[in-house]
Amino acid sequence: MLSRTQKFTAIQGDVELTAEISPCVFMYQGYGLQLTVTLPKGGNTIVARKDIPIETATEQDCQALLESVRVLPCNVCQKPAFDPSSCSTNRDGKCESCFMAELNAAFEKETKKEDAKLKRDDAKFKARGYTHRVHAWIHPASGSDYELMMWMINPTQEEITSELKKKKSVDTTDYKLIEL
Ligand SMILES: [Zn+2]
Repeated sequence: MLSRTQKFTAIQGDVELTAEISPCVFMYQGYGLQLTVTLPKGGNTIVARKDIPIETATEQDCQALLESVRVLPCNVCQKPAFDPSSCSTNRDGKCESCFMAELNAAFEKETKKEDAKLKRDDAKFKARGYTHRVHAWIHPASGSDYELMMWMINPTQEEITSELKKKKSVDTTDYKLIEL
């Protein structure tokens, strides 16, 4: 029987893929054979043969399964990436670093959008006579923490504390006061 520490390698062009048997194969009975395949510069994918029980799977089965994974040039930078048609990857033909860069760029864009909205809100409230924004983190006794923005006019610490108590926060000191 194959063991969970066994490693397999396959060369495609000048790319060396490494694989090991996915841990779930040993945890769940009847899972079938599944490999976790890794690119040399990071990023991994899975490939499976559900019809081969792990009890009877051979090293040749693993090797053949690994060799069914195709590598393509990343559709952004040309470095090796998994061919999405040959395995389960959500990287969409991109290498790990291009995929992460795209994800971060999307996140940054979202953050910029939120910052811009906050600036607009600040200006709106300032025009109405508000002087400060309280940027608070509400900590409910049960449930998860969340951020809250409140616009106030020259608030005292007591007024802020009282507002945060109304929101049922167990910590009424977790806020920043921003002058508009
Ligand atoms: Zn790339």
